[in-house]
Formats: sequence, structure tokens, C-alpha cells
Amino acid sequence: MKKKLAYIGIGVLLFFVLAFSAYKLMNARNYQLFGNITSHVETHEKVVALTFDDGPTENTDALLSLLDDYQVKATFFLIGKDIEENPEEAKKIAEAGHQIGNHTYSHKRMVLKSTSFIKKEIEKTDALIARIGYQETPMVRPPYGKKLIGFPYYLNKHQRKTITWNLEPDTYFTKVDEKINYVKENIQPGSIILMHPMYDQTDNELQAIAGILQTLTDEGYAMVTVDELLKFQK
Ligand SMILES: [Zn+2]
Repeated sequence: MKKKLAYIGIGVLLFFVLAFSAYKLMNARNYQLFGNITSHVETHEKVVALTFDDGPTENTDALLSLLDDYQVKATFFLIGKDIEENPEEAKKIAEAGHQIGNHTYSHKRMVLKSTSFIKKEIEKTDALIARIGYQETPMVRPPYGKKLIGFPYYLNKHQRKTITWNLEPDTYFTKVDEKINYVKENIQPGSIILMHPMYDQTDNELQAIAGILQTLTDEGYAMVTVDELLKFQK
């Protein structure tokens, strides 16, 4: 009887250890089971990448004009179904010379999904990105940064780069000044910053991005696309 209880105890413990490991793995920004994943670049040069997730939406124009003011090229991880709804906005991003990444078609968590589902999510979005005139193979960013086995397996098999981030002001702060300060205090050469300007109705996110552009410029950082940033990897 005691022995049986001990086995059950070990079983329960093992279950929690495995569940915890899977959770850590799903959320890890710089580790996955298959292929490479990049959350930042190791360099001594003062270069960083600004990345924007989701959309495109009607917020695109204001953001493009702000980036233009600073002569900065950024990386946009676009959602397939949003490109379908706003193809003109997507085209403007491509025409302005920014990098475009694949953020899946439906923006669902790419965890515990079938291979055929994952394939469709990526390929449908690739086709939409190609249709707006973007020529490169898009890098991929998993929605919510979540991935487990199938998603990295597919991307590795197709030699696709997975890009996450190491600075995420929106996760910790809501106020404009707090977001800018967080970036100012935590920025390092090779950082990849994640911002979400596309669904914001308040203009706050655009103000935060403007503040970050100004702060990083003052600090002597060059802001480049992820593609450019990867060339600085030591
Ligand atoms: Zn997203």
C-alpha cells in the first residue's frame, strides 16, 4: 500500500515537472527544440532593431511617417488575415523599404496544432506577403511568442528564421513615459524591441514609439531591420 502511494506520488511529481518544462519551453524567447531562434544579437556595436507586431491596420500611415522622420527602417510582423483586409496598408510598408515578417494567418497560439494547420498558417501568409510585392523570404514570429514542438519543427524543416525579442515594454507598462524609460534603462547593443502600434486607438503607442526613437537616437543607437541586425552577430 505504502509502495503504491509512493509510485502515485512520483507520478504526480513527474507530471508537474514535465508540465512545467513544457510551459517554460513554450514561452522561452531564445530556445526551441528545432532550428534557430533569435531574441537579440551579440554585438558591441550600438545597433538595435525596432519590431512591430500585428496588423496592418489604418494606423499604418502615422507610423510610417514617424519612422520616416527618423529615417529608420523597422521590421513589421504582419498577420495574414489583416493583410487580406488591408492590402493597401501592407503594400505601403513594403514600398517604404521596411522588412516584413510572417506572424501567421490567424494569430492563434501555435501550440498543440497539427502540421497541416501550421503549414497552412505560414504558407497562406507567405503568399499574401509575396502578393503585396515583398520579395524576400519572410522571417517568422510566433503569436504571443509561443511555440512547442510542431511549429519549430516545421520552420526548421523549411529553413525559416524564428525571431522573438528581448525588450517588451507593452508587457510591463501602460503609460507612455514608463515604456520609454524601460527601453532607455534596458537597451543594449543587439536588442530587439517589440511594440504593438496597430490596434491602439489612443495614440499612446505611437507616442511611446516616438519617445523611443528620440531616446535611442540621443543615446547614439542606430535602428535597423532584423535582417541588418543579424549581420552584426559576433
Ligand atoms: Zn501578435
